[in-house]
Amino acid sequence: SRLSVRCRSKPQRQVCKTILQHFDAQYSEELGEQWKSARGVLLNPHSWQYGVLLNRFSDLTNLEQGLRALGYTSLLPRVQPESQSHTAHIPLQCLIHRDPVRLPNQGHQPSWLKQYFLLNAASVLPVLALDVRDGENVLDLCAAPGGKSLAILQTATPRLLHCNEVDTHRHDWLLKTLESYVPTTLQHLLSLTRLDGRSVGDERPGAYDKVLVDAPCSNDRSWLYTPDTHQGDIWLKERAQLPLLQKQLLCSALAAVRPGGVVVYSTCTMSQAENQSVMEAVLASYQGMELLDLTQLIDSLSDHFGFAHLHPPLGHLVIPKKGQTWGPMYVCRLKRVY
Ligand code: SAM
Repeated sequence: SRLSVRCRSKPQRQVCKTILQHFDAQYSEELGEQWKSARGVLLNPHSWQYGVLLNRFSDLTNLEQGLRALGYTSLLPRVQPESQSHTAHIPLQCLIHRDPVRLPNQGHQPSWLKQYFLLNAASVLPVLALDVRDGENVLDLCAAPGGKSLAILQTATPRLLHCNEVDTHRHDWLLKTLESYVPTTLQHLLSLTRLDGRSVGDERPGAYDKVLVDAPCSNDRSWLYTPDTHQGDIWLKERAQLPLLQKQLLCSALAAVRPGGVVVYSTCTMSQAENQSVMEAVLASYQGMELLDLTQLIDSLSDHFGFAHLHPPLGHLVIPKKGQTWGPMYVCRLKRVY
């Protein structure tokens, strides 16, 4: 069928004033001028861009060509910098457009694999930082709806990809995503569980080469559109509890990874309390952890993503700006030394 894109992506939505006030106070303090440009993007959903992650397991005949004819370009260079020194892995095919156009979602059809997954292109950053290799044992601790699990499978063929999600409804959604994109011949690589991620480290100590903690967080983009003030107040109370949960999940991940293994922590908030402060607290309380440098990867993406100047400078934060509306997405990579 012919490819086409839609321009006006979302119906007009109301901004929650309570949350905007809270963001204004917190982020102007934490991010200064950069909050102004991020604020402009977050308040204008019609400016939001969408990335297209191609599914290497599906029939892509003519699709990439068709997307390029529509003005899509590759987010990543052909040879990805993190893969140069080791055995090469498969380049992730994420296409982006300079305009806020949106491809239609593809419906779930039994016995047919979807060709693409729409995402905030900054979501591929934690997956690239994880840098999974063929044959590794990988845990995606907070996996639903499955965008990053799917992206991991686009970059390598792990021995095991354990996708965990505690919430029943979201677990079903995760299952559906994986069914829609992963061929039955590869389903044996996948293990799906519905555990509280905080217990996985105790239950499976040292079992994984790589662990992704894409933590539950205050999702700045969507929470700004919380339908009413009452809900906004509830959310602000919940927000205060998140750093503790995030630290517990990260500690569980550090216990679940083998010595020498890598843990990537990510969120889609700009909040320092949920990003750098979580990392600081965990690094201070956990021995044998080393912060890994991500400069090469960050530099390779700096033409497309706006990165914030972080205080303290721990990890990296993609911050939305005009014309490059990707993010928010925070990422930090740790190695368990012993
Ligand atoms: N990685 C997902 C993706 O790319 O599609 C998005 C993950 S979302 C940011 C965080 C997820 O963590 C939510 O689905 C939430 O239900 C789940 N979660 C919350 N608390 C959890 C816990 N204690 N253990 C495991 N998952 C949890």
